[in-house]
Parts: sequence; C-alpha cells; structure tokens
Amino acid sequence: MKTVRQLTGQVMQGLFGPGKDTQARNARYHDILDASNSGVFEWDISRREIFLNRRVITTLQIEAEPGWVPDSILMEVFPEYERNRLMNLYGKLDGDDETRRVEAVCLDRKGEKIFVQISGRVVTDEYGNTEKILGLIHDVSQQKKREERLRHEALHDYLTGLPNRTLLVDRIQHILTRLKRNSDLNATLLFIDIDNFKTINNNMGQGFGDDVLVSLGERLTNIVRAADTVSRLGSDEFVILLEDPTTSDIAHMLATRLLEKLQRPLRVQNKIVNLTFSVGLVLIDDPDASVEIVLGDADIAMYAAKDKGKGMVVPFDTTMRKQAAKRLDIETALRQAIDNEELYLVYQPIFSIDGCDEPDAIGVEALLRWTKSTRGNIAPGELLAVAEENGLIEDIGLWVITTACKQLARWQKEGFPADFYININLSSRHFDDDAIVEYMTREIDRYGVPRNGIRIEIVESAVIRNPENALSVIERLKDEGIFVSIDDFGTGFSSLSYLHRFPFYALKIDRSFIIDVLESEASQNIITAIILMAKKLGIRVVAEGIEESDQLQFLKTAGCEMVQGYLLARPETTPEVDRFFVDAEWVEARLAGS
Ligand code: C2E
Ligand code: CA
Ligand code: CA
Repeated sequence: MKTVRQLTGQVMQGLFGPGKDTQARNARYHDILDASNSGVFEWDISRREIFLNRRVITTLQIEAEPGWVPDSILMEVFPEYERNRLMNLYGKLDGDDETRRVEAVCLDRKGEKIFVQISGRVVTDEYGNTEKILGLIHDVSQQKKREERLRHEALHDYLTGLPNRTLLVDRIQHILTRLKRNSDLNATLLFIDIDNFKTINNNMGQGFGDDVLVSLGERLTNIVRAADTVSRLGSDEFVILLEDPTTSDIAHMLATRLLEKLQRPLRVQNKIVNLTFSVGLVLIDDPDASVEIVLGDADIAMYAAKDKGKGMVVPFDTTMRKQAAKRLDIETALRQAIDNEELYLVYQPIFSIDGCDEPDAIGVEALLRWTKSTRGNIAPGELLAVAEENGLIEDIGLWVITTACKQLARWQKEGFPADFYININLSSRHFDDDAIVEYMTREIDRYGVPRNGIRIEIVESAVIRNPENALSVIERLKDEGIFVSIDDFGTGFSSLSYLHRFPFYALKIDRSFIIDVLESEASQNIITAIILMAKKLGIRVVAEGIEESDQLQFLKTAGCEMVQGYLLARPETTPEVDRFFVDAEWVEARLAGS
C-alpha cells in the first residue's frame, strides 16, 4: 500500500524525472490533486496530521489551505458519533483489506448536513497498528437529498404533506406488533370523512377544496399530540392513529372532543367554512388482527356514523361487519344492474280531482324498479339508500331523466294529450350544483318533448340539507320552464319558511297524513291547513297513497287538486299504463271494486 507521500514521489518522478527540486514537485503534486474532481485525503494518525486537497476543503467547508493540517480539524467537521463510528470501522481493518466505502454525515458551518462518501484504505505499521487512513471523499448531498425527497414523497401525501396510506399502514403494523408483545398496549384509530365535501368542490372550485383539505390537515396536526399520526388516505378522508393505550370509553370521549374542535369554523381564502365530519372509531386491541381489518373496521364505523346523521363519532362493533358486507353486495349488484340494464321504470298515474266528477288522469309518476330486486331480496328503498350513499344515485337519476324523456316522446307520438307529463324523483345530490339543469334541458330538447312534460319531485329533507344551492338550482330550472314539486311534504321541519321562498310548482302531502286521515282529527286538520296555505302561496296540492274512496272524498272536499294511490291506479309497467289509458273502463272497474 502506497501513501500519498510515496505516491507523490512516484508521480513526480514520472512527470518530471528524477532530481528536480522537491518543493516544486510538491507544489505541482498539490496542483494535480487540486485539479482533480475527487477529494483526496491522507490521515497520518501517528503524526496527528491530515492531508486535504482543495476539493475536500471546499466540500467540507473547512477554513484552511490545502495541504497538511492538524487532524483536530476533523472535530469541527464530523459530529462525535460519526467520528467514533468511522474510527471503529476503519480501526477494525488491517493493511491488507480492500478499500472500504462508507457514507458519513458532516456538518457545515451553519450546522447543515453534508452527506459524503468516503472510500478509505488503512495502512498499518509492521506491528499491525493503524498508521494511516487514506482515500477519497465525495460530496453525495444532492443525491442523498433527492433520495430523501423520494422517500418522503413515497410516504407522504402530495397535497397536505401528511403521512399517506403506506406510512399509516406501517405505523398500524407497528402497533399490532407491539400488541403481540404486550396486550395492554392498545391504540385508537379514527377514520374521519368530511360530510358533503363534494358540495364544496362543486360550488367553490377544486382549488378551494384543496385549500380546505390543507387547512384541515394543519388543524388536525395541531389538535393531536406530536406522537400521534395524522394521515390522509385520499380525497376527503383522514385517519388519525392515537398511540397512547386507552379504554374504549376514554377513546370515545377523546374522539368526541377532537370532533368538536375540528368542526369549529374554518377560515379558507378569507371565507368562513363550516364543516361537519363523520368519524369511525376502532380500538386496535386484537394482536391477531391485520392492518386491512383494522382499517376496514374503521371505514365501516365511519359509514355507520354517516348513517346516524353526520357530525358524529361512532365506535366500531362487530355486528357492523355484516351490514357492511350486505351494503357491498348491494353496491356490486347495483353497478351490474346499471351496466346490464336491469333497471326499469314503472309509472303511477296522477289524477286531477279538481272540478270534475271522475278523477282524470293527467300524468304519471315514474318509480324505479329493478328486475333482480325480488330475487336478490333487496327492497327498492334499500337499493336507493345504498345508491344515495355511494353516489350511484346520480347515474341512476340521469338514466331516469333520459328514459322518461324517451317514454314521453313515444306516448306523445301514440296520441297522448299534449299536456300529459311524467314526474321523476331526483336525489338531493342533484341539487348541489347546476349540472342537472344542463342535462335536463339537453335531454328534453333532444327528444322533442315540452319543457313542462318532465317534472321533478324532490323530498323536503333534501331541500333543507343545502337550501341555498337547492334554491338556485330550482330557480334555474324554473327559468328553463321545468317544474319542481316538493315531495313527502310535512315530514321535514322548516316546511313553511321554505315553501314561501321556493318557487315550487306543487307540493305532495306525505302519505303518513293520508293513512289515518279518516280516524285522526289531527291529520285532517293538518291536511286542511296545508291545502289552505298552499292555495294562498299559489302552489298546487297532490295527495299520495290514497287507498280508500272515503280518503278520496275527504281530500276532494278539503280542496285538494290532485291525487295518486292504489285506489285509482298502482305503479305499472309501460304496456299496463298504455292499456290503462286506452281502456277507460279499467279505472272504472277499479273504482267500482273498491
Ligand atoms: P315516493 O316518491 O313518495 O313514491 C311513492 C311511493 O308510494 C312509491 O313507492 C309508490 O309505489 C308508493 N305508493 C303509491 N301509491 C300508494 C298507495 O296507495 N299505498 C301505498 N302503500 N303505497 C303507495 P316506491 O315505488 O317503493 O318508491 C319508494 C320511494 O323511493 C319513492 O317515494 C321515492 O322517494 C323513491 N324513488 C322511487 N323511484 C325513484 C327514482 O327513480 N329516483 C329516486 N331518487 N328515488 C326514487
Ligand atoms: Ca315521489
Ligand atoms: Ca312521496
């Protein structure tokens, strides 16, 4: 093994031939080393000196001239733990060993880390003691920083900078391992989902939505302690891992308090945003559970929280798994139903009883049916609830609109009256933004039916959910000549004030009032009052669920203008409806039979 000094001699001899002045040769030698892109060093341990070329000096930001300097200079550059580590490593090598490559961290004058790669080799004396270490030093900081950034990006969410699913999974795995050692060391997982986040994105724009998520991430991080993990799983879902062992009662209390803080008004782009959240809580206390199970359970509990009415914390219990499995079954089946065209509409006639002796069918209400629903044992209501939850109801709604337009066009061609109409039921989700107005007008015009030929029913609770948006959408629909009625009227709470503000075409008295109208004076009074009020506001009244002729009689006397119900006609498929309207005796037969 040759040292730098010996090398010097060799290089010099090669370059200048023997006999040249040593000082000049040394200077030349330094120049060559300095010109090299590599940092070169030779550490003479016995003399406590180290040779550094210019490149090492600049890389390590040392205040010295290139050449031999006291090795105490290393103390300034390498933190003590690094010095010990390096000495340990190289101390174990002997002179016969190959060059050993290690990475080390030094600190520059500002205390910033410089990552270097040292390729060093040991020179021993005749007794085997380390005499010198010599080799090359490379600055690998750029590369290191890039690696660090990549590692960070792989484990963090690009938008909020919070840990992502990969890192969360790792931390949950860590808790599960900890549990295997000590079953008392449980932890708590909170699955947090923003209620109706889509509305914000739709109304305020995606950029604003992103800012909301970033602010929420910051708020969550501030609410929990540093040891806890706040992660974002994507879209509007955050998961918090509270590492401290606890009981389920305390965990529930903590989560409730956290939710309170989280739901305080949020300032984003100088606007105040009020949000609610649904939170699923899982106690991680089963060492045999897997990360997937833990996250799945938390997700299930979060959905249970949404079902319970949003803005709630719901702890997971095992019975929820069955419900969730059923929900998933329905969801899968429903997607297939849409793809395989297993959905269809039935139509229930709507009758005018205003100023005519016989009820006169003037339109129909389209109601959704599914070919598989009886076989698959899924009630339409349940199907719709699932579709509402997962958003499939929006696709269904568009399908209903188009199908109704097509049907009305066909009926008109077959000679149905020009003012015959189809009422369709739309989910509240359609009233979050204007898209529905565009779609409705486009489809209505495409099939060449009148604007007031396809009419919308929306349930009262849906209007109350987001009144401002609903109002603007309903007003735009009205401007386009499309009628909107309020369904299930009387089941919500703010009925009167909304009726006054909204340009509804008609209101449908909820069936619950009709059911006991003959026995209950209260129901009679309510119905009478609703009809009077609606008339004052210029809104038509429809009563649905009429099953008995006495009910019909009461409503007629009370001044109700339109009715629907099994007494007069059930919801039927298109051929049946055709027959119904062609054969007027059909309705007479029904009336006579009742
Ligand atoms: P809704 O809009 O209040 O519809 C009236 C419901 O009452 C229908 O049930 C209808 O079959 C039933 N009905 C009509 N007359 C009588 C009667 O005399 N007696 C009794 N007992 N029931 C009567 P259906 O078809 O099961 O629909 C239930 C609910 O599902 C609907 O209530 C509506 O909210 C929703 N729905 C139905 N089709 C659609 C759809 O295409 N889209 C959306 N978003 N919702 C729909
Ligand atoms: Ca309806
Ligand atoms: Ca209804």
